[in-house]
Amino acid sequence: MFIGIDDTDSERGLCTTYLAAVLMERLAPWGEICGLPRLIRLNPCVRYKTRGNAALAFSLDSEQPDMVKRVALQTLLELSDLSGANTNPGLVIAEEVTERMKAFYCSAVREILSIDAARSLLDEEGIWYRGFKKGRGLIGALAAVGAELPDWTYELIAYRQPGRWGTPRFIDHSTVWEADRLTYPLTWDTVDHHNRRVVFAPHSADPVLFGIRGSDPTAIRRAFEAIRSEPVDRYVLYQTNQGTDAHILPGEIGRVSESQSYRLHGFVAGPARAIPGGHLFFTLEKGGGELSEEGLDGEGPDGKGRNEEKRNEGGVKRGGRIECAAFEPTKNFRDIIKKLRRGDELEVYGSVRDGTMNLEKINILHLAPDRVKAAPLCPQCHRRMKSAGKGQGYRCRLCKSRSSSPAIEDRPRDLERGYYEVPPCARRHLSLPLIRLNRTDICLHPSR
Ligand code: ATP
Repeated sequence: MFIGIDDTDSERGLCTTYLAAVLMERLAPWGEICGLPRLIRLNPCVRYKTRGNAALAFSLDSEQPDMVKRVALQTLLELSDLSGANTNPGLVIAEEVTERMKAFYCSAVREILSIDAARSLLDEEGIWYRGFKKGRGLIGALAAVGAELPDWTYELIAYRQPGRWGTPRFIDHSTVWEADRLTYPLTWDTVDHHNRRVVFAPHSADPVLFGIRGSDPTAIRRAFEAIRSEPVDRYVLYQTNQGTDAHILPGEIGRVSESQSYRLHGFVAGPARAIPGGHLFFTLEKGGGELSEEGLDGEGPDGKGRNEEKRNEGGVKRGGRIECAAFEPTKNFRDIIKKLRRGDELEVYGSVRDGTMNLEKINILHLAPDRVKAAPLCPQCHRRMKSAGKGQGYRCRLCKSRSSSPAIEDRPRDLERGYYEVPPCARRHLSLPLIRLNRTDICLHPSR
């Protein structure tokens, strides 16, 4: 039996993973859990989500399907916050996983689906299900059952004793840093070194104490054993599509849809612009082009400062374009975005919200030369000439030689090619952390 559950919690409390953990325990007398339960993240752009758009599934070998359905239903009703305005639980119990269910998962992680689409498929495939209130959770429950994971990671979630829910969590942070030291890179996103934060524990009233993510269950358990905290009520190791980029579609600028996530190739149209609140935006264009001289940055013959505006406008062939955003919570990732210059060739990864690409990571394929106009060197005495006044070229103060045109010089780029990502404190559950790539043929800049 393949059991899927979703949309049981609210901002006020509870958690679908906790419900699944309790249900697995309650079903122990009626069957045997096969393999690891699965924590499936779905389209991160879904607006109904409570937190991270998670759904749960596990498989059970049982001779008593009616009893299993009854226990599952009772547990769902008991541990769902049905009073939550946005809580619409769904429970799906299938006897097999068909190709259409697998396809439904692929759509649910990348597109926005309707409740009707889930109900129709459930009816057509003859699957047992129960939806409560609007039954929106049927989308996630069906997708979780159908999820095929060509790539996966693990997360161990530790739960709090019920009496402590809603109170501040006690976790000895020094032991979390130690756990990271012992097990990184086989575990990740427990702490954020750059931002000096422990990031593996929520602050909400739900039953989760913390979650340890990683690629190796042995290393995850080692980290778990190293961490000192308030008593753990129970813990579960999940297999998950987290950290796999399952939501990312190969895309093309000018052909993207709202609420979907892509990898796009393009050229930076100009330096990033900051808006109040610390958010950064830059434009990515489909076509790249050579810098024309008018478009260059630098000191003009009038000796007045740089002309960033002009430089932004010059030279790039217009194709499709898209705004890319690095919002304030992406912290030090913005330092990289600030260094991008017009003509840099990139791949960007992220989700399209309100027509803007919200960045999760970038791959700098080629750094454009950072060409600037500067006063030329005197051919006689090799010293830098000075502006002779507006529109009058340049003059050497020493030997009085003149030049009508500026020199074009390359400024050094304080940036390397390769992949850059948002720090752990801003990571999306589905985003593949660069540390997982484990490749030597490409330049990686993992954020830790
Ligand atoms: P929970 O811990 O309860 O799962 P959450 O943050 O994961 O909290 P939900 O409360 O599950 O969010 O709300 C997400 C809702 O969106 C669910 O009803 C789920 O079925 C639905 N959903 C998931 N993926 C999609 C999708 N691709 N299109 C439309 N709805 C979706």
